[in-house]
Amino acid sequence: MADVLIIGDGPAGLSAALFLAKNGQRVTVFGQDNTPMHKAMLYNYLGIPEMTGSEFQRVSRAQVQQQGGQIEDVEVTHAEKTDTGFAVTTANGDRVEGKYLVLSTGTNTKLAEGLNLEKKNKGIVADEDGRTSVKGLFAVGWNTRLIRTQAIISAGQGAATALEILSLEAGEDVHDFDVVE
Ligand SMILES: Cc1cc2nc3c(=O)[nH]c(=O)nc-3n(C[C@H](O)[C@H](O)[C@H](O)COP(=O)(O)OP(=O)(O)OC[C@H]3O[C@@H](n4cnc5c(N)ncnc54)[C@H](O)[C@@H]3O)c2cc1C
Repeated sequence: MADVLIIGDGPAGLSAALFLAKNGQRVTVFGQDNTPMHKAMLYNYLGIPEMTGSEFQRVSRAQVQQQGGQIEDVEVTHAEKTDTGFAVTTANGDRVEGKYLVLSTGTNTKLAEGLNLEKKNKGIVADEDGRTSVKGLFAVGWNTRLIRTQAIISAGQGAATALEILSLEAGEDVHDFDVVE
C-alpha cells in the first residue's frame, strides 16, 4: 500500500482519489472545495443528465471518503521531491510525505514551478497517463490543458493516472472492473 498525495479537489483530483482509495491505496486529497465547479450547471457529463456543479462536488467528495480516501480542507503551500518520494507543506504548517504526488490544481500551476516541471502555454507537460518528467509525479486535469477544459475530461485524466499508479504498485497492468452480482 502506497501513500498518494493529491493536491487539488476538483473532478481530476477526486477521480484519481476514488480509483486509488477503492483499490486500497492510502490517499490524501488537499483542497478547500474552491473549484469553479461551483459555478457550473452540468448538462454535458455523460450519465448525469442534469446536476449543479456544487452537487457534483458534494457527491464526489462523499464517494471518495466512503472508499476510504482522506480529504484535508487546506491549501498546500509547498511541494518537494524527497529521497523516498514527495513531501507537501500545508498552510497549517503540517508536512506530509508520500510515495507519489498528483498535481490536480486547476488553473493554479505555481507548485509546478517549485518542482521544476516543464510547462508549455497549454499547461504542465504530462503524457496521457499524467506522467511528468519527474518519476512518481503526475499532473492531471485543467493544469495540463489550460484551454478546452471540461469536468469529464479532468475526471478521465484522474482515472488514467490512478490506473498508472495502481499498475506501478502491482507490477502489471491494472483495470478497475466490477461486475454485476
Ligand atoms: C463558469 C464556469 C462554468 C462551467 N461549466 C461547465 C459545464 O457546464 N460543464 C463542464 O464540463 N465544465 C464546466 N466548467 C469547467 C469545469 O469547471 C472544469 O473543467 C473543471 O473544474 C476542471 O476540473 P479540475 O479538477 O481539472 O480543476 P479544478 O476544478 O479547477 O480543481 C482544482 C482544485 O485545486 C484546488 N487547488 C489549487 N491549488 C491548490 C493548492 N495549492 N492547495 C490545495 N488545493 C489547491 C483549487 O482550489 C480547486 O478546488 C465550467 C467552468 C466555469 C468557470
